[in-house]
Amino acid sequence: MSATESIDRPGIYEILRRYWGYRSFLPLQEESIASILAGRDSLTKLPTGGGKSLCFQLPVLLKEGMAVIVSPLISLMKDQVDSLKDLGISAAYLNSSLSFEAKKRVMDQAREGGIKLLYIAPERLVNDETMKLLRSTTLSFFVIDEAHCISHWGHDFRADYRNLWLIKETFRPLSVHAFTATATQEVQRDILDQLRLTDAEIHLGTVDRPNLTYRVMQRKQILKQVTELLRKHDNDPGIIYCLRRKDVDSLSLGLRDLGFDNVPYHAGMTAEERRINQEKFAREEVDIVVATVAFGMGIDRSNVRFVIHAGMPRSVEHYQQETGRAGRDGLPAFCYMFYGGADYQLWNFFAERSSERTVMMKKLGSMYNFCAQPQCRHKVLAGYFGQRYEKASCDACDYCLNELDMVDDPLVVGQKILSCVARVHENSYGFGAAHVANILKGNLTEKIENMRHHELSTFGIMAGESVAFSRYMIEQLIGQGFLSREGEYSTLSVTGPGRGLLKGEHSPVLAKPLIAARKKEVAKKSLEKKREEWDGVDYGLFQKLRAKRTELALKKAVPAYIIFSDNSLKDMALKKPVTRDVFSGIYGVGKSKLKKYADIFIEVIKGET
Ligand code: ADP
Repeated sequence: MSATESIDRPGIYEILRRYWGYRSFLPLQEESIASILAGRDSLTKLPTGGGKSLCFQLPVLLKEGMAVIVSPLISLMKDQVDSLKDLGISAAYLNSSLSFEAKKRVMDQAREGGIKLLYIAPERLVNDETMKLLRSTTLSFFVIDEAHCISHWGHDFRADYRNLWLIKETFRPLSVHAFTATATQEVQRDILDQLRLTDAEIHLGTVDRPNLTYRVMQRKQILKQVTELLRKHDNDPGIIYCLRRKDVDSLSLGLRDLGFDNVPYHAGMTAEERRINQEKFAREEVDIVVATVAFGMGIDRSNVRFVIHAGMPRSVEHYQQETGRAGRDGLPAFCYMFYGGADYQLWNFFAERSSERTVMMKKLGSMYNFCAQPQCRHKVLAGYFGQRYEKASCDACDYCLNELDMVDDPLVVGQKILSCVARVHENSYGFGAAHVANILKGNLTEKIENMRHHELSTFGIMAGESVAFSRYMIEQLIGQGFLSREGEYSTLSVTGPGRGLLKGEHSPVLAKPLIAARKKEVAKKSLEKKREEWDGVDYGLFQKLRAKRTELALKKAVPAYIIFSDNSLKDMALKKPVTRDVFSGIYGVGKSKLKKYADIFIEVIKGET
């Protein structure tokens, strides 16, 4: 009998409704909960926003004793504990942020059986004091959150996670449950080996995030491009990622000058400045963060409606993780990437100097391909993480939404460009994209004259197109592996597959640069879609409810999403409940939230009706 068959289903649904105010489970939650209830070791991989926390928080309420949650991030521990307390579930954490007295209080409370979930940092778990505490307490099970940190193959390796095998050895037969959002097969194997889970149940969710819409565009004037998006996303919370600190500073200032309130975040700022800005974002005092990759670990704000990449990250893993911060609440969210050849060159520069050069270049190649090859973005991402994407169209990317105008004769365009690159390469060292584009256009530049490149048969072969058009085609041909760009001068050369293209063996997929009229059409369509999503919802009331949530978050010094998710506020702005009875039927309202918040939010609703 599988664990799922043996569980008390009405019991877990009742708890789900009573505490969380949800009526159904998200994919694989029930299976993961069943493993815990059955005391079977398990590994659960669910995408960001897939509801991993609930998988281990719910069974705690059906088991005797305290569950121990190993978690790598101090800030997340506090948020999770605050969130549990708000649901009426006793929880605490032990980490280096606690004073001696606070630590003692938590330990006493744990010994007395007053805590259902105890969050512990990995380095603290294995020390003598904690081990002694855990041995003298009734325990229910162990959870290893962000379990990919255990693996060298993962991208957030934490040496302290390597000691976690001790749990199984010391506390057998208690079960151990690993959770992660990102784990390739190698990482999964490593997690099971390291934790010594020889007979674990494995629950693997899809990596795809259907509520995210992906769009990829060429970067031109980034400030202008970003402001256009911000106007479209009026009032929406979002993160803008830049590649370098100085880009963060200039974009953040530029946006502020234009009246877009935002905070910057990067590793060059002091820890205090970063903490303040992160908290402002979490408590919804500010809705836009401009940041480097340093921002993210520990961000749990669930209503991030857009993530803009002002530059291309170094790998698809990074891209997936950063865009993953959008739409954790399951509502539609949008990911925009602005990329250019310069990004590739920047990462290439770092890769060249790294001992991990081969791996880095491979990852960079895949990332650039994602940008430069027009195809279903959901499908590419799923494929990259080893999963098949079954739908013919995702309806949630620029390619499937038909927002890209494709070049009619891509093979011919590709051959013209590649033969031009081959010709300039024949009698010299090779040249960069700008020079090649000028030859294609037939521009008689000084350099072209000096090199006598106006005598080539490919001179002016694409005279009817702009230089920018040819440059864009060249980037796509690089991204698709038909051209390579190497060395200090970023010289182009034709690759093996490129030679096949010249012989007509395979064709590239080329999109035209987006023109203004088309951009307007796309913007209009997405506005219509947004209207449909908000059909019947009083948007003005939603904003007032948001303001009330921010006020409460500030007063309680907790992130706003802990009080209510956007989903709950949206449901309130749709149903406009004015009695406690109706309020109890709102999405995400369990008994604790009903008691704490019903009257406060009903008052706001009454003021509007
Ligand atoms: P993860 O840790 O996997 O990224 P979270 O645990 O933060 O995801 O959950 C994401 C969001 O989904 C949270 O707002 C959470 O309350 C919500 N959620 C979890 N389980 C359910 C459910 N069964 N029904 C509706 N929402 C849920």
